[in-house]
Amino acid sequence: MAPPLQDDKGATELGLITVLITNGFRLEDKYFVDELQSYSLNGVNFSMKAGDPLLHAELTRTKISTFNTVLNGIRNLANSNIRFEVTTIANTCVLDHMDKICQIAIDNGAKKFSIDFCSVSFKDSKPSSAYMPDPAEVINAIVSQYPAMDRAASGGFHLAQSLPTCLWPAEFLAQLEAKNQIEYGCHVMTREGLVFDHSGQLLICNHLHDFPLGQIGVNFTDAASFTQFWQSSEISEYYDQINTYPAQRCINCQTYTKCGGGCPLLWFVYNPENITREEETK
Ligand code: SF4
Repeated sequence: MAPPLQDDKGATELGLITVLITNGFRLEDKYFVDELQSYSLNGVNFSMKAGDPLLHAELTRTKISTFNTVLNGIRNLANSNIRFEVTTIANTCVLDHMDKICQIAIDNGAKKFSIDFCSVSFKDSKPSSAYMPDPAEVINAIVSQYPAMDRAASGGFHLAQSLPTCLWPAEFLAQLEAKNQIEYGCHVMTREGLVFDHSGQLLICNHLHDFPLGQIGVNFTDAASFTQFWQSSEISEYYDQINTYPAQRCINCQTYTKCGGGCPLLWFVYNPENITREEETK
C-alpha cells in the first residue's frame, strides 16, 4: 500500500500548474494511481527510457523485469482519469528507435507521445556531453521517424523544441506548428517555472543541480522572503547571464523571440558561432 501523498491543493488554489514528472516505477501500484487521482494534479509526464527490456535495464540500472513495471504503469494511468503523456529523451541510445518506443506507449494505452532533448549534464561541476547526439543527427532522426510516430499517436505527438531553430528544416517546423505539435524554449527563458530539488535547493533547471540559486530555510523561509529573494538583482543577473544571445547572428535574428538561441546549456559543449546558421537571420 502506497504511503499517503501530500495534499497539493495549496498549489492549485494559488493557480499553479502541478505536473508529476516520473520514471513511472511507482505507477505500477494501482492503489498509488487511485490515490494520485484524488489529488488536484494537472497531469503526469511519464518518462520512458527505452523500447526494450534489456536496454531499459541497462539505462536505468534496474532489473530486466522493470520494463514490465513501466508498461503496467502506463496501463494504470490509461485506466485512470489522470491526463498524461509519455515522453522519451532523444539520446544516443534510443535515437534510431523512438518510433518503436512511441508505438509501445500507444499500444499500452497512452494517447500522447512527446520527445524531449538530451542536454548537458554536470559531474563535479564539469559539463559532460555523454549520451548527447550531434544536433544534426537528432533532427534527422526526428524528421524521419515523425510520420510513424504521428500515425501511431493519431496526431497526439508533441515536440519540446530546444535546439537552435535554424538547424531544422523550416517546412518540418511549419508542419508541426500548423498541427499545434511543437513548443519552443523553456521556463528558463520566461522565468515562469521554479525547480526545487529533493533537499530544498532552488535550481535554474534540473540539469544545474551543482549550481543552486538558493535554499529553503537559508535564503528564504516563507512567501514574502521568497518573493524578495526571487526579485533580487542578484537572481535577475543570473537569468540575464544565462539568457544572453549565444551567437552574434542571433542578435538580429527574427526568430530569436521564439527560439531564444536554443537551450543555453548546449553552449557548454558546442560553439554557437559554429553550429547556428546564417540564413535564418535574414
Ligand atoms: S540564429 Fe540564433 S536566434 Fe536565430 S534561429 Fe538560429 S539559434 Fe535561433
